[in-house]
Amino acid sequence: MTTPRIDINIAKIAHNAKELKELYGSKGVGVIGVTKVVCGDPNIADALLKSGISVLADSRIANIRRMRDAGIQAQFVLLRTPIPSQIEDVVRYTDISLNSELSVIKALSKSAVKQDTTHKLILMVELGDLREGIMPSDLEDTVRAVMERDGIEIVGIGTNLACLGGIKPDEEKMGYLSSITRDVEERFGLTLEFVSGGNSANYNWFISTENIGRINNLRLGESIYLGCETLYRKPIPGLFTDAFALVTEVIESKIKPSVPYGEVCQDAFGNVPEFQDRGQIRRAILGVGLQDVLVSGLTPRSDIDILGTSSDHIIVNAKQIDLKVGNEVEFDLNYGALLSVMTSPYVIKKYQEKSSE
Ligand SMILES: *Cc1c(COP(=O)(O)O)cnc(C)c1O
Repeated sequence: MTTPRIDINIAKIAHNAKELKELYGSKGVGVIGVTKVVCGDPNIADALLKSGISVLADSRIANIRRMRDAGIQAQFVLLRTPIPSQIEDVVRYTDISLNSELSVIKALSKSAVKQDTTHKLILMVELGDLREGIMPSDLEDTVRAVMERDGIEIVGIGTNLACLGGIKPDEEKMGYLSSITRDVEERFGLTLEFVSGGNSANYNWFISTENIGRINNLRLGESIYLGCETLYRKPIPGLFTDAFALVTEVIESKIKPSVPYGEVCQDAFGNVPEFQDRGQIRRAILGVGLQDVLVSGLTPRSDIDILGTSSDHIIVNAKQIDLKVGNEVEFDLNYGALLSVMTSPYVIKKYQEKSSE
């Protein structure tokens, strides 16, 4: 089969999703499956549903439409606060959206009334990571303003940590989210379906906490796909960390010097490269590059080293391995590499149904 391609082991993803659903479910925490890193791939979405996850979330309408068009039956959540010029589609194609701006919420209300439907909201609260969120001191006013409007309904409160600021979702942050949720519920007579404490970074808190408080939901992407938590990127026991493999192919393999010769100026991307002198080495060129994948997020599955990259090539030191033209070379991917590969139209997606494939 041709390369570059990504081998996607559906059975391993399904296993991870099922394990995580059971683990979090053991303390009453539900799981929303996040599909943005796989661009709403319907085969993967289907695997999440078969693992018992019934709510799917994505940051992009296009991905949600892709899943809907493929016949995926789920509740769909828009993870990124709506882009104002897309409000109509948000109401049309999603059931719930995460929100932090009153002006956007008002527009959602108008559009929902026009479309004769009710759009559900999870209000995002800022707890220090400083990406999206209503400041806690403004939460009550926002809730009051939302409740005065037609066509929209608050179904949850959520927060997002460990993304922009790398802030840890710990006992204190989760306790605080629980307490402001209780305040809002009491004051406005609400019982919120979703108290969404975060993402794959909440694993360590979940494992160690003795009191889950009011938190009853997490939105999980990376831990399902890559089998790790995301504060320290440690594997989660019992999960597969190798559900995805990037498969590439050698297009040139020769013994050459390890240091370029001639006068050194800028490379293809405007940097002045530096190379370590290792004498004569076997340099292999792989037919894959930055137009296919964020190369810095790749780890070779064999004992070779990445020396450099350009738009269309990765150059490796093959070391003791006698790589020949036409040989396949496999890589593990981190989150950024996976995102880029799934987004690149140049990388073929190949699905494997058994965990041993
Ligand atoms: C991407 C995203 C998630 C999922 O994060 P993972 O680290 O992949 O689990 C959850 N919530 C929001 C708001 C997101 O944007």
